[in-house]
Amino acid sequence: MTSKKLIHGFLDKLGRNIQALDAGIDSVRKPAKGEKPSDRRARLKLLRDLIELQNASMAAVKAHLLGRDETGSVNEPEDVYSENAAWEFERDFKRFLEPWTQKDIEFECEDCGVESEEVYRRTFSHPYPQEDEHFYLCDKCYEKQTTQQSPGKDDSAEADATRSDMKVNLSTPEKCQEMIQKVKALEAAGQLGPAQANAMIGTIQNALSLFGKQGTVGSTSA
Ligand SMILES: [Zn+2]
Repeated sequence: MTSKKLIHGFLDKLGRNIQALDAGIDSVRKPAKGEKPSDRRARLKLLRDLIELQNASMAAVKAHLLGRDETGSVNEPEDVYSENAAWEFERDFKRFLEPWTQKDIEFECEDCGVESEEVYRRTFSHPYPQEDEHFYLCDKCYEKQTTQQSPGKDDSAEADATRSDMKVNLSTPEKCQEMIQKVKALEAAGQLGPAQANAMIGTIQNALSLFGKQGTVGSTSA
């Protein structure tokens, strides 16, 4: 009697898959007696699918052993494991297979730190140039945040003013150039990030290009 406990790890599972696929491929490789053309087509399709699956499983085995697939891209996060990469991978793999517990589906509230199923990812939308924010919050903290935000009307009025400045008018090449200047001014004033500004200018330039060559794109800077 051996005291060793079988692990049935990642490679074992793939190995069993490949064995089953081998058997399947053998069984559909040979035609049955008196096979009809339509049966033959179905059989060959099944054969093709099984061979593809077998190839995929073999590739996964190879990637696990070598750490890389045929294209050379790393398939497993080797960097996060120490020199015992194969063992540590098996540990993680075993953990993936373990049934989830109540604890696993509880998120932590970013404000009060409570761990609960009542914690959700909440979105705080902001007026235009600002990006929306997302936080994991419990019901109580979310309520607190939303009631704190609503009386602050000064902020939103200011934002509305910038937004009305930014009324988009791309009806003529001149208006487009004007818009580009406005975006650059907002960026210079720090109201737009460089990435946002570039994205907007790109969009306006796309619109500009729709006017065709008579618009003399890019040369009409004020
Ligand atoms: Zn909370």
